[in-house]
Amino acid sequence: MIRNLLLFLSFLVFFSFGQNIRAQEQKPSYVLVIHGGAGVITKKNMTPEKEKQYTAKLKEALQAGEKVLKNGGSSLDAVTASILVMENSPLFNAGKGAVFTAEGTNEMDASIMDGRDLNAGAVASVRHIKNPILGARAVMEHTPHVLIIGEGAEEVAAKNGVELVDTSYFFTQKRWDYFQKVKKEKEEVEKHGTVGAVALDMHGNLAAGTSTGGMTYKMKGRVGDSPIIGAGTYADNNTCAVSATGHGEYFMRYVVTYDITALMKYKGYSLQKAANEVIMHKLKDVGGDGGIIAVDKNGNISMTFNTPGMFRGYVTSEEKSEVRIYKD
Ligand code: ASP
Repeated sequence: MIRNLLLFLSFLVFFSFGQNIRAQEQKPSYVLVIHGGAGVITKKNMTPEKEKQYTAKLKEALQAGEKVLKNGGSSLDAVTASILVMENSPLFNAGKGAVFTAEGTNEMDASIMDGRDLNAGAVASVRHIKNPILGARAVMEHTPHVLIIGEGAEEVAAKNGVELVDTSYFFTQKRWDYFQKVKKEKEEVEKHGTVGAVALDMHGNLAAGTSTGGMTYKMKGRVGDSPIIGAGTYADNNTCAVSATGHGEYFMRYVVTYDITALMKYKGYSLQKAANEVIMHKLKDVGGDGGIIAVDKNGNISMTFNTPGMFRGYVTSEEKSEVRIYKD
């Protein structure tokens, strides 16, 4: 009883320090962390109904990934499983529900990275791959390249059994209405969103993946940080796995996900210290909105963001699990 109380109190203390979560006293056998985008996500902008939908979908994404990890599956498969759930949901800006470019089209980016050997795959500006994360995986597993764009990426996907769809599949009224609004008012708020997942599996392997429709009203051909290894996604078994969301131009210029791993590797920072340094100082100081989710090789979790909210959640082998939306 007292032990449980102490455990709970120490959990609260850790949690209050910038979303740093020590998964448990000993290394957990697996950990999964997901995000569904960061931005101006406040209670004021949300209805209880919408809140419920997001929470339920995030839980479903966690369950899909955890099922893989629990059965001894790989972090790569877990990350893929979680991202698929979010890509297939119109709630998030990835796959179905991707935002519109200035031309009124959908152009999606995604990447995945294997912490064992730093192998990685990515697709950018794809318009027909139903699940861009599967396209990224096909590039990693079936080509000698890391990043393939547009039609070339779609050909790789098709050749490897990844489903292609008509562009109309990605249409959602909500994103279209918002695109029209941005077009008319040149509105500057909340133009982004992305999904991502990172995992540590029972074999001690880390993986990270990220998928996005990019930013509403982006120029045709614009590519953000999400498919750029080291900017939007990074995983290295020696340090951590990270997936980012936010204003991609800043995340590319500040090489955010690699910078976090580099601070751990070269300066010996803890995961949370590295995440704070990059997200709450370097990026925040220059107006780079967004956040990251990460797990390190010991199972420590970070969910750090400098925006009012970030859709996020985690689950560990110790049956600790949580889904959160707002800052507090
Ligand atoms: N980082 C994504 C991009 O710039 C958008 C986001 O995460 O909100 O394309």
